[in-house]
Order: sequence, then C-alpha cells, then structure tokens
Amino acid sequence: MDIKNYVKKARSGKIDLIKNTKNIISECEKINKEYNYFNVISKDSAIKKAEELYKKDSKGKLFGVPVSVKDCICVKDVESRAGSKILSGYNPVFDATVVDKVKKEGGIILGKTSQDEFGFGSFNVNVGVDFKIPKNPVDKERTCGGSSGGAAGITKKLEYPHAALAESTGGSIAAPASYCGVIGLCPTYGRVSRYGLMDYANSLDKIGVISRNIDDCALVLEVISGYDNKDSTSLNVPDYKYSRIEQDEKKLKIGIIKESLLEGVDKEVKKSILRLVGKLKSKEIEVKEVSLPLVFKYGIQTYYLISMAEASTNLAKFCGMRYGYEEKIQGNFNDYFSKIRTKSFSREAKRRIILGTFARMAGYRDAYYLKAMKVRTLMIEEYKKLFSEFDLLISPTMPNFAPRLDEIDKLSPLENYMMDIMTVGPNLCGFPHISVPYGSKHNMPIGVMFTADHLEEKKLIEIGKIVEKIG
Ligand code: GLN
Repeated sequence: MDIKNYVKKARSGKIDLIKNTKNIISECEKINKEYNYFNVISKDSAIKKAEELYKKDSKGKLFGVPVSVKDCICVKDVESRAGSKILSGYNPVFDATVVDKVKKEGGIILGKTSQDEFGFGSFNVNVGVDFKIPKNPVDKERTCGGSSGGAAGITKKLEYPHAALAESTGGSIAAPASYCGVIGLCPTYGRVSRYGLMDYANSLDKIGVISRNIDDCALVLEVISGYDNKDSTSLNVPDYKYSRIEQDEKKLKIGIIKESLLEGVDKEVKKSILRLVGKLKSKEIEVKEVSLPLVFKYGIQTYYLISMAEASTNLAKFCGMRYGYEEKIQGNFNDYFSKIRTKSFSREAKRRIILGTFARMAGYRDAYYLKAMKVRTLMIEEYKKLFSEFDLLISPTMPNFAPRLDEIDKLSPLENYMMDIMTVGPNLCGFPHISVPYGSKHNMPIGVMFTADHLEEKKLIEIGKIVEKIG
C-alpha cells in the first residue's frame, strides 16, 4: 500500500492506528536486531503520537504515516548523535524544520536511523565509536551504502508504508537508495530547510527523501520543501504540489553522460542503463550522448577538498563541553579537548579533520579551498550549458552494485572516495537528482540516476513515474 492510500484508510478509521503503530515498532525492533538500521527507536513517543492522532483531526497529508529520521537531523527529546559518540546524551530541545513539518501533517516519527559518523562515508562502514554497521536488506554480507544506510535499509525491509528523511552532502541519499533498491531524491540546495540538521559541510548539505515508490517520494517532498526563515540559505521561490504531478507525456530530452559509462563501471550496471535508455527511446523520449569532462576529471578532488575543509571547522565545536559526551574536566583546555576527541571520533572523522584543517591553513587556503571553489563554479557552468538543451541527465548512481563488507575493508581511503564519482557532481553544484532502481545483478539492485537543473524536482518526479511504469 502506498502512503496516500494508507492515509486515506487511516483517516476514515479503517486502520487502527494505535495497533498498527505498535506492530510497526515491534517489526522495526525485530529487524534492527539483525540489520542495525536504527540508532534509536522512539517506541513510547511514536505510540503516544498515534494515540493523539486517534483522538484528533485527520486532515494531515501524512496522517498516521511512520517516518524515520537520519540521526543527524534533530528530533526534539530524542537522542540525536549524527552517528557519533561525541554527541552521546544529546537530546535536542527543538525539532528540525523538516521534522516539525512531518509532525504537523500527522507523521509518526519512528526513530533515528544509522549513518556514517557525521555523514563521512559511502558505505556506512565509517560508523562512530560503539555504533553498529547496517547490513544490506537483500544480502547481509553486503553494504547498505552510505551515509544514509539505515534510512535506505529500513525503507526496503519494512513491509509497511514508511518514508525516510535522509541527508546528502556528496551522494548520501542516492548511493544507499541505489544499493538497497529504493528511491532516493536529493533536492536543489536550499529547496528544503536545513534548520536542525547537524552540519557536515554547509555549502553542500541537503535534506531529502528515501521511499519505496515515486508517489510516496513526491508526497513527502511536498511536505518538507519550502522557504524557512530560520535557514539563511533557504530559497524563497514558488514550489510545486509534487504529489499532483502527472506523468507528463510531453517530450523529455535526456542527455546520457558519456564519462559515466567509461572504464571502472560494472558491466551489468552499464547494461541496465543502456537497456533503460532503449526503453525510453521507444517512448519517443530523445536521448543523446553528452559530456561533462570537468566534472568527471576534477569532481572528486574538488568535492573532498571543500567538504573536508568545511567539516573540519564544523567539528571544532565538539569539544566535550557544550553538547553530548563529557568527562570530568582535568588539565588545560588543549589536554581535555584532545582527550575527548581522541576517544570519541572514529578514524575517518580524524582523517577528515586533519586533511580539512590542512586545506584551510594560511598559505594553503588559496591553493586548495579557494581554488576548489572556483573549479566548482566552472562545473556549474558546464552543467548549465547542458541544461539549456536537455531536461535531464542520466548516469548510473554508483559504478557498481553493493560490494561485500569484507571487500570494502580492503579499499584505501582514496579508492573509497573514488566510488562517489557519479554523485559528487550534482551535489557540488546543488542540482536536484534522484536514484531509481532499475535492473539487478545476482539479485542485487542497480540504481539509475537522473539529474535536473536547479529547482526542477518536478522533472525528477515525472521521469521517476516513467521508469517505475517501465518496471
Ligand atoms: N561519500 C561522501 C562522503 O564521504 C558523501 C557523504 C554524504 O553525502 N554525506 O563525503
């Protein structure tokens, strides 16, 4: 059942919301024991919310719908740690704007989903100290993808209507959606408020949706998007009623990115994309080869310089005194600060703090961070030229299907970062993109990514409907 139908039934009283919510929570608890998709399951507050709804109005667009929230998005009175030990015990006193909007529409918050610490990863194996690695819902030996691994995993595994709020800095919505076989939509930078999101890299972070089908995705996007004066980067622009978008029969023009199908891409992934392109062409959609040389040559370097520089400043505030984990203060500030951070950050967080700080140091700033910002502008121009002619660009979401967890262990940090080659471009340039499942290899899902021009989420929903129909 999709969310719209569930809401209809819940509103008319055909679903016992309290009983159903209890069932969903116990299903989540059961799944979590095996798969580690949640850092926290908010059993009591979810049931309380269902009881309140039972007594109250039934107008909300998400009336009674279970929604999970990535750990880095603040939920009032629920421990929110962004997957890091350094935030243990932090219970926000406010809701992130997206959470507030979901609650106002009658959504029931299920809990906080697991992620790479602060979003630092592509496979959700860079978890914080004492956190568990989520496992792929199709094959437990494989990764869920990251960094929103828990969000994608539970969306696939939970056989109840549900949607997940997730976050992407460089691909963390699309990547896990692709590996888990669900839909992941990352909006234009500024379309959805970031108020209450724990920053990874401010100039890149976006909150988006992971869902089982395209209609659910459209509905949840409609609920969470829109201007917010609490976020200075929020865009005050007209929005769509995404849930009302029909599959548009007008001709779409799609560019297939040449570089995204060159060496390093799994053969089966390539075949899936080409098969889909064939089907789209048979629907009279024009597909032509296009090229993004700059994005594919410098995307990874540019992304990792900017994201690490910003991450290292953002993490400076976690010193064991203001939020979360603390100990008895002993020694001078530097002693205490390093003791707390040594204990509570994982290896990858430390690596990014060191590299990011280096790239921002006086003397290096011009050569690295500022240069990367200039290259980013050139990349936006490269995309914009294509969008003057094409509605959408198509590529694989990931160059492969979900790798085995023991294979990931063998990758060097650089090999790890290279896996983001498809997703860093749209993320660096703030373009909305969607990963839609299409095809599989040995049962493992393959994701296809569509990227649109700024504020053209509507086209992503349209193409999502077309692909879903093709099946
Ligand atoms: N894999 C990328 C990184 O490690 C993207 C993560 C994200 O989008 N949060 O930075």
